[in-house]
Amino acid sequence: MESVVSQPTPETLAAKASESYRAALSVIETVEPRIAGAIRSELADQRDSLKLIASENYASPAVLLTMGNWLSDKYAEGTVGHRFYAGCQNVDTVETVAAEHARELFGAEYAYAQPHSGIDANLVAFWSILAHRVETPALEEFGVRQINDLSEADWETLRKRFGEQRALGMSLDAGGHLTHGFRPNISGKMFHQRSYGTDPETQLLDYDEVARIAREFKPLVLIAGYSAYPRRINFAKMAEIADEVGATLMVDMAHFAGLVAGKVFTGDEDPVPHADIVTTTTHKSLRGPRGGLVLAKQEYAADVDRGCPMVLGGPLSHVMAAKAVALAEARRPEFRTYAQNVADNAKALADGFLSRGAKLVTGGTDNHLVLLDVAGYGLTGRQAESALLDSGIVTNRNAVPNDPNGAWYTSGVRLGTPALTSRGFGPDDFDRVAELIIGVLTKTTPTTTKSGAPGKAKYTISDGIAEATHQAAEELLGNHPLYPGLDL
Ligand SMILES: *Cc1c(COP(=O)(O)O)cnc(C)c1O
Repeated sequence: MESVVSQPTPETLAAKASESYRAALSVIETVEPRIAGAIRSELADQRDSLKLIASENYASPAVLLTMGNWLSDKYAEGTVGHRFYAGCQNVDTVETVAAEHARELFGAEYAYAQPHSGIDANLVAFWSILAHRVETPALEEFGVRQINDLSEADWETLRKRFGEQRALGMSLDAGGHLTHGFRPNISGKMFHQRSYGTDPETQLLDYDEVARIAREFKPLVLIAGYSAYPRRINFAKMAEIADEVGATLMVDMAHFAGLVAGKVFTGDEDPVPHADIVTTTTHKSLRGPRGGLVLAKQEYAADVDRGCPMVLGGPLSHVMAAKAVALAEARRPEFRTYAQNVADNAKALADGFLSRGAKLVTGGTDNHLVLLDVAGYGLTGRQAESALLDSGIVTNRNAVPNDPNGAWYTSGVRLGTPALTSRGFGPDDFDRVAELIIGVLTKTTPTTTKSGAPGKAKYTISDGIAEATHQAAEELLGNHPLYPGLDL
């Protein structure tokens, strides 16, 4: 029987944390006061901004405090119990606990807590898929037992084989991510890439179209996951497609891991039972430290474990420790409430926009983000993003499907609810946020260029709007203080 421990309130925890931060900052100040100053200012800036960036959040003081210590000093390349350095017993504890919480939380067969970031988690996943699917049979064909026995000619063949592999992922303008095989990222040099988009009418994922492309392209890896698609994915359908064409299904849940952890996405919408490998960041909706995580079916475990030294050096043990703390937090019942609130708030934000005549990509949301199409206001995404920032609202511009303004200026603004939900914002607050945003956009006009055409970057906001919006945003923030009780 588990004993019922009453949890201290966030206020009590933050008050305790205040002492630690005051002491830490006074020590830092003796060495480089500008850094202590930047740390203090960042807290003030975070407290004062209406943060709608869908990939950001606020980790708990417990998570943040876990990172500032001597675990950072230890080298621990290898895996639990098999390190290349002596004296790793405490790091072993840290990594074991982090992996255990990850497995239990997500119901995963295997968890690897070492990746330093989401991009690293994806690299570990890609290499483990290549090692598992390409390298092993190749070695047998070459008649050698280990990679060191390959001849130069064998290597040449192998290199060609690796380079000939194909990956299929969501297109960038439909909401996919650069690490899913696109040219500016190394994944685009490791794989021949093709993408699937969304239906031109509904802007929703079209599984028949994904299946059609997969049958034709025959990818080694089918990638599902996104950074800017405002809808859930049916991973059972994705797994069916992957099975049919012999692909490994890799799901990158970097953005929505918190909704999986909080059991908002269950059944066919939970990637873990359906995918061979699931990667994630830990700092977005999961509300942990900045880092990555790989979950895998047991079949892939040994190859995932080769993440170090394949693409990683020594693990960031202090960050792994903070991942363990964040995952422990995510296993509490309160986190399920949080995750449900994130989704409910996104719905309220979307409804707030729709009721004011705004256009949303896919017509709404059923996850943690909304993609607002700003073309109807005569603005580019860049102008909208800047005008909102001038008004105290922090968002980021984002391409919409088949964006006429391209990936730099764009025609959209992406808005997410995880951060403000952590501050305690509810559906009424998000309706007000929608009202404020529409208020700014309808009073913003693009500055015309010399030829008289509307420009893509400059704009003017009607007198007094930015100031009034700023003030309204401050009121909302004042009702939901960030880290209440934390006093530096
Ligand atoms: C944010 C994100 C990443 C990259 O995470 P980093 O920690 O910034 O490297 C990878 N994949 C997806 C889908 C993301 O949204």
